[in-house]
Amino acid sequence: MSRTRTLSLLGATGSIGVQTLDVVIAHPDEFRLGWLTVNTRFDLLEEQLHRLSKHGFTPHGVALADEKAYHEFRRITSFAGEILCGDEGVCAAAAAPDNDILLSALVGFSGVLPNYAAIQQGTPIALANKETLVSAGVVIMPEAKKHGVEIIAVDSEHSAILQCLAGEFMNEVEKLILTASGGPFREWTLEQLENVTPAQALKHPNWSMGSKITIDSATLMNKGFEVIEAYWLFGVRADKIEVVVHPQSIIHSMVQFCDGSVKAQLGLPDMKIPIAYALSLPHRYPSNFKRMDICALQNLSFFPPDVVRFPCLRLAFDSLAQGGTAACIVNAANEIAVASFLQSTIGFLDIPRLIETCLEKITHIDTPSLEDIVQTDKKTRRLAESLVREGMSTPTVFLPKTNGATIVAGNSSIA
Ligand code: NDP
Ligand code: MG
Repeated sequence: MSRTRTLSLLGATGSIGVQTLDVVIAHPDEFRLGWLTVNTRFDLLEEQLHRLSKHGFTPHGVALADEKAYHEFRRITSFAGEILCGDEGVCAAAAAPDNDILLSALVGFSGVLPNYAAIQQGTPIALANKETLVSAGVVIMPEAKKHGVEIIAVDSEHSAILQCLAGEFMNEVEKLILTASGGPFREWTLEQLENVTPAQALKHPNWSMGSKITIDSATLMNKGFEVIEAYWLFGVRADKIEVVVHPQSIIHSMVQFCDGSVKAQLGLPDMKIPIAYALSLPHRYPSNFKRMDICALQNLSFFPPDVVRFPCLRLAFDSLAQGGTAACIVNAANEIAVASFLQSTIGFLDIPRLIETCLEKITHIDTPSLEDIVQTDKKTRRLAESLVREGMSTPTVFLPKTNGATIVAGNSSIA
């Protein structure tokens, strides 16, 4: 069999990127590698290129978004392919005309312009970078439709839904049911949540992932983003998307149909499975991934989520209902809030407070252009950063609205 498709990978050094390269190496007859992109981790990129070369893969080129990393990489590397620099370099890699498929595993808003560029080029995208749809789904999806570009789910919940929908009719779908592990603080009280440390939040019970999505999982913002992602990917109304907490992360999501029947997709929590499915569908690659022992599944439990203790989920639902740039504001504020929390400059419950304040203060646009989205993202980041700075000197700067919950106003965990 000959290598049939050229795959380019945005975010090669991340958690999804590394696992994607494992999948590619396990299927050497299926792919050629086009471009790999990274931000700062030039040394890991160099290691990856050596490893790939041992398995017979030589990418056409690489792009490093960070300028310093680009120069460092040039200094140390023996890579003979093209080497590009900056956000423009990442966009050029995404839009390379010989890409047959793009796996987009950038984190945050940094994915929006590269994904948009790939769509302009007509390249199908296996999309892990959910923030692209959260921030810019309102522009990205019509553009994908216009160019006939398929956006294929990589996220495990959306991969599960895709698999449940195979052979079904969308007008017979009653409800999409997204499962959520509930994160490490599922049973914590609001008082305990107030004092969560970054180290505690970075310990996800079931999944090993990049730091940003791990914090998003702990606040349930990740699940809120996945609701928005499902809305754009499957074209289902927001009130037909439900979130259920399922701590074991065995059922990855479900679809309920008009006859009352429910289909679920099950599997061990291993992102290589949905990554491989996004690249192989409608077929499946044989794999030696660990198999599930069905008889060991004694206690699968399910609960409704608690939006009082986890207000980020409510904020995501609210922003979806509001439409326009609301979810873009939530995403940008969340990115700054998560980075600030990781640096211990704000507390865990300040994350939703900061987002809510940005939603109140940033001007909302109902039918934004791509430029409106880029500008809204920038403005929101500036506001969120200034609120974090003020919060450090004025402990009551955030304006919590918690549906009657007893969240203490102010920023008590700021040192
Ligand atoms: P990581 O933080 O592990 O990796 C992010 C990748 O993007 C790295 O290669 C990083 O480069 C690169 N990157 C970061 N910032 C920029 C930037 N500004 N410009 C260009 N490149 C950048 O993230 P994950 O792999 O965990 O997640 C990637 C996406 O997939 C996210 O949207 C996440 O929500 C989604 N996802 C992740 C899952 C997981 O299991 N990890 C599961 C489902 C979805 P460098 O290494 O140089 O910093
Ligand atoms: Mg997920």
